[in-house]
Amino acid sequence: MITRKDFRELAEFEGADPDCAITFYFQPARPSNKSHREEAILAKDLVRQALREAEKNGRNLCARADLQRILELTGEWKGNRSKAKAVFACSGRNVWQEFDLPPQLARTQLFVNRRFHLKELALLMGGQPRLWLAVVDGHRARFFDLYLDEVREREALFAPLSRRGRGDGFAGYDAGHAERSVNDETLHHFKNVAEFLKQALDKGSFDRLIVGCQDIHWREFETHLHPYVKKRLLGRFAAEVGSVTDQQVRQQGDRILQESLAQHRHDQVCEVLSQARSNGRGVTGLRRVLRSLEMGEVQTLLMTENYSAHAVECTSCSHLDAHMVRYCPVCGRSTQELEDVCEAIVPAAIRRDVDLVYVNEEPDFERVGSIAALLRFRPGKKKSVAASAS
Ligand SMILES: [Zn+2]
Repeated sequence: MITRKDFRELAEFEGADPDCAITFYFQPARPSNKSHREEAILAKDLVRQALREAEKNGRNLCARADLQRILELTGEWKGNRSKAKAVFACSGRNVWQEFDLPPQLARTQLFVNRRFHLKELALLMGGQPRLWLAVVDGHRARFFDLYLDEVREREALFAPLSRRGRGDGFAGYDAGHAERSVNDETLHHFKNVAEFLKQALDKGSFDRLIVGCQDIHWREFETHLHPYVKKRLLGRFAAEVGSVTDQQVRQQGDRILQESLAQHRHDQVCEVLSQARSNGRGVTGLRRVLRSLEMGEVQTLLMTENYSAHAVECTSCSHLDAHMVRYCPVCGRSTQELEDVCEAIVPAAIRRDVDLVYVNEEPDFERVGSIAALLRFRPGKKKSVAASAS
């Protein structure tokens, strides 16, 4: 599985030639669709076509070698692949990175460019927290972590069988007393689990939490959760500790995560629109977004999933401009045209730890240009400079 470190390193890559960085995404057909083989054939055609084009323009042996290797890779795929795949290659710089991904890409695609095409990967990884699922009942707790479709079971906690077990057949044991002990033990167990979660959060083991728990236990357990832990709680589902499977953990975790991400995206769109309207911590439209990115002001970059725009990039200082100017307004050197400005801003955002949010079906957002940014701080004085310049 791909890590954030891998992701950053890919974003830092810049090739020597405009067509030496190869990005290949393979999306298998959905299991409901029977054409698995066809997906692999389509992928092969895509690579063959790129190879023919590379041969036609006669240069860049490096790209041709990489495309050939990708073609061989797709040839090895027999039968059904359930995972998606991403390959990043530049043999001239000794880069060959292959990653298995959850089958959630929009489609199979191939890009030949100066940089790696990271938008699809950013879309997949965007907002993916380190997620823990705690499945809890009155005397047991199991912990799972879920990252990009992969479930791993971690520790488990079991309350020791003390009076609860022995009490059943223990002659002369006061029934009311036994019941009270059970409650005490459950209480003690919930406190232990809550404390364990707090320590795990303090250690940075997870960012977000989902709890699997039956209704009868939930109300009591919830009261013991530390307020910090509670803030990280995305939701709850009903589950049995003894019988819960990895499959259920993945499905429930994914469902609750997707719902909460959709809500979060919507909240951020509302936030950036209202901030932009009040001249506060928000800007909309490509021109202002590029300026804020260059100033290092951007905290969160929002764009529609299919956002694309022409722009120019300075060959010397890397300044990006939404106006198609031949010479850089900053340093005066020549510029080159970018077919899609995302080629430059997505890696730049990843390198600078800017959160990327891809927005879907938000008409108000599309009306202001389909791209916007939440800023770390209010632009202040710069704002009036920008206003007088425009
Ligand atoms: Zn420049």
